[in-house]
Amino acid sequence: MSHAVHQRSDLSCPAVTTSAEGLRLSRVVAGMWRMTEWDMAPAQRLSFIEQCMAMGVTSFDHADIYGGYGVEALFGEALALKPSLRAQMQIVSKCGIKLLAASRPEHTIQHYDTSAAHITASVENTLRQLGTDYLDLLLIHRPDPLMDFDEIAATFKRLRGEGKVRHFGVSNFSRHQFEALNRRIALATNQVEFSPLNLAPMFDETFDGLQDLGVAPMIWSPLGGGRLFSGGDAAGERLRAVIGQVAGELQRPFASVVFAWIMQLPCRPVPLTGSGRIEAIAEAVEATQFTLSRSQWFEILRAARGHEVA
Ligand code: NAP
Repeated sequence: MSHAVHQRSDLSCPAVTTSAEGLRLSRVVAGMWRMTEWDMAPAQRLSFIEQCMAMGVTSFDHADIYGGYGVEALFGEALALKPSLRAQMQIVSKCGIKLLAASRPEHTIQHYDTSAAHITASVENTLRQLGTDYLDLLLIHRPDPLMDFDEIAATFKRLRGEGKVRHFGVSNFSRHQFEALNRRIALATNQVEFSPLNLAPMFDETFDGLQDLGVAPMIWSPLGGGRLFSGGDAAGERLRAVIGQVAGELQRPFASVVFAWIMQLPCRPVPLTGSGRIEAIAEAVEATQFTLSRSQWFEILRAARGHEVA
């Protein structure tokens, strides 16, 4: 069910300061993970980036490993067509996973590496691929059983001193892991998976801990990686019906209702989009313009969990 009641030209995504540490991102961030699937020529990639920015979506989420270590170079190739865009956008990237990949024959097992040497080498390669001399935000991609909080904090401070990275954060960290590193260097965000199909951060203290610290989480797979539209299990069926009903009541697109449901949480989640269709980015931005009633919000929670709250 889709209600195209808003023109894209009306849409203007606000910005958000993620924490007292001072990072400014757009309220909706464009995720680049799936860019290789979009099969765009460089000029089409540039056009997509420019259309996002025209709607106020000025922040772009990357990782060294996306597209088998290929997405940053695709983005850099597009950016090179219009370098003046760099100063008006925020680039996020991640490091800490070593994938088995044709371009990395030295990797003999998939593993994590959060050593100073690997973080530094990864950032330098990321900057080369993107064709930029700084990142706005660098995240440790996954908690590493061998991570040393002091070593990571010292490496972050050195990268900031060298002007290569302006802000730091983490991804998929537990509340305790976040707070341990945050005591050593102020972190701007924890990027975690959350959607009506994955409620974990709402119940494992991740969101409570971040709200307490005034740090906005970034949200990956807010639409369940697309499973909200097509997943066959019982929760998916219930959610499709209830979200569709709320979308009808509010006269808003289905995806906008999901983004609004997420952004309504008091920890101020910053959702990532995953689509290469500009219409899908517009539906995410539209979600910054309305809220659900408390009853509508809990109807979606009830459908997600399959039971009432006590
Ligand atoms: P998502 O929004 O949950 O899923 C996007 C998928 O849903 C796309 O394949 C999209 O297909 C599909 N979709 C189907 N109907 C749609 C509709 N009406 N509107 C929008 N999308 C629709 O997000 P995601 O791609 O899984 O993740 C978003 C971003 O999070 C990634 O790009 C990446 O930057 C980040 N991420 C981070 C981590 C981490 O560990 N930190 C992990 C995974 C992802 P179409 O392209 O056809 O629209």
